[in-house]
Amino acid sequence: MRIVALAGGIGGARFLRGLQAAAPAAEITVIGNTGDDITLFGLRVCPDLDTVMYTLGGGINEAQGWGRTDESFTVKEELLEYGVGPSWFGLGDRDFATHIVRTQMLAAGYPLSAVTEALCDRWQPGVRLIPMTDDQVETHVVIDELDTGRSDGAGWSGAKRRRAIHFQEWWVRLRASIPAESIALVGAEDAKPAPGVLEAIEAADVVLFPPSNPVVSIGTILSVPGVRAAVAAKTVVGVSPIIGGAPVRGMADACLTAIGVETSAQAVAELYGPELVNGWLVAEADSGVRVDGMEVRSRPLLMSDPEATAAIARAALDLAEELA
Ligand code: GDP
Ligand code: CA
Repeated sequence: MRIVALAGGIGGARFLRGLQAAAPAAEITVIGNTGDDITLFGLRVCPDLDTVMYTLGGGINEAQGWGRTDESFTVKEELLEYGVGPSWFGLGDRDFATHIVRTQMLAAGYPLSAVTEALCDRWQPGVRLIPMTDDQVETHVVIDELDTGRSDGAGWSGAKRRRAIHFQEWWVRLRASIPAESIALVGAEDAKPAPGVLEAIEAADVVLFPPSNPVVSIGTILSVPGVRAAVAAKTVVGVSPIIGGAPVRGMADACLTAIGVETSAQAVAELYGPELVNGWLVAEADSGVRVDGMEVRSRPLLMSDPEATAAIARAALDLAEELA
């Protein structure tokens, strides 16, 4: 069986581990979100690709869900001694090595897809991991910030200043505490799917949407020209990241609000729509969800341990088989 999964970071990676347990013989291709990518200290950082790679390759910090296990932060401390930030983004020493290798290969002219393949040579994640695009697409968030200082030094003006910041600054530094006026996928319109992305989707028996962020993970991947149409042509089953009107973890509600969508399993299903998603798994608390043209099943959806996660993946595959 050939399976394609679109994946963000933690939610995506944990689901994928369950998928591997549920379908050990399947050929799994993961199309990773690169909208969260950011250049820090001159290094290209791809948080979602790395989270999938480390999680499936056994190098993840399990408790945290991102970053390396057995991590230390000497480089970050030394940078801060020089007054070089940002300090709000946690890059550990082991993690730095990944970003150095990536940046070196990109500078030598390799596309991100080839770099990702090279990094996966070490980690052997057991899936084929492809970035959604080799082109630079960055998620930016437009916020209205209170002006905290005037250029003439007179201090707080009380005025609001509208500006766009990188998604990571909004998500990690501000913890999405300032509402997003809008979310922009800079570069998406002109991006091309990375080599192998459309081919993998076309060859797939099923496409799965793990419980990743529907706006800034799955939504971003679908915004790469050609991807949405390719996915829509397949049997697609999604797992709701929203249970009982709230995200299980993280701040997906702030992203949904920014695009005018209610935080509910029903609203996310409608956001995707029956022309894209054929089967939708919701939690038992959301068993009332109904969407014309979509097969909705309710079952336990908490990825609380490997067995529970594998059961969710198995349910997604069973539903896909039924719908195919
Ligand atoms: P990413 O979008 O894959 O980068 O991952 P995040 O870790 O930011 O999580 C995305 C979404 O996964 C969030 O909206 C969470 O609510 C959802 N999520 C996290 N854990 C679980 C879980 O155990 N079950 C379900 N159904 N959703 C989860
Ligand atoms: Ca992410």
